Amino acid sequence: KSGFVAIIGRPNVGKSTLLNRIVGQKIAIMSDKAQTTRNKIQGVYTTDNMQIVFIDTPGIHKPKHRLGDYMVNEAYGALQEVEAVLFMVNADEKRGKGDNLIIERLQKLDVPVFLIVNKIDKIHPDDLLAVIQDYSTQMDFAEVVPLSATQGNNCETLMQLLEEQI
Ligand code: GDP
Ligand code: MG
Repeated sequence: KSGFVAIIGRPNVGKSTLLNRIVGQKIAIMSDKAQTTRNKIQGVYTTDNMQIVFIDTPGIHKPKHRLGDYMVNEAYGALQEVEAVLFMVNADEKRGKGDNLIIERLQKLDVPVFLIVNKIDKIHPDDLLAVIQDYSTQMDFAEVVPLSATQGNNCETLMQLLEEQI
């Protein structure tokens, strides 16, 4: 099995940290055919029976005014082609404009979107539910995975869920 997973989130939520943890040293060189230029390959996770290619879609994170319609459309197009989108948010910050802009775009997709609530090490466990509920009022998520990319909590669970999705 193999599939593409896009990781989306405003700056500093921990996307690179999570990918480094997942992909680690196993970053592979992809064939030319695998991706178009509109996607940026961040890493490839490989097990005996599965390969997941993580991509970043430059443009989807950026406020509209900084990009032409062409680039925004390109970024959307890339998202329609993946098996799952990981929308990463920060557990210890309130949902902001940047998050809302991304949600607005993700709502239009047919692709399953996972809500990844990162940095749970920075909050009290009792506060997690409110964070999840707040985002869940905005759209339906295929899965909700709270984790800590730096400490590793729940990263295995995420990979199991992705394996099921792909
Ligand atoms: P990106 O911009 O989304 O790629 O975010 P980065 O991966 O560069 O992370 C931004 C900052 O958040 C860095 O200082 C990370 O060390 C920190 N960070 C990422 N994940 C976690 C986490 O789970 N817990 C804590 N406490 N910090 C984190
Ligand atoms: Mg980054």
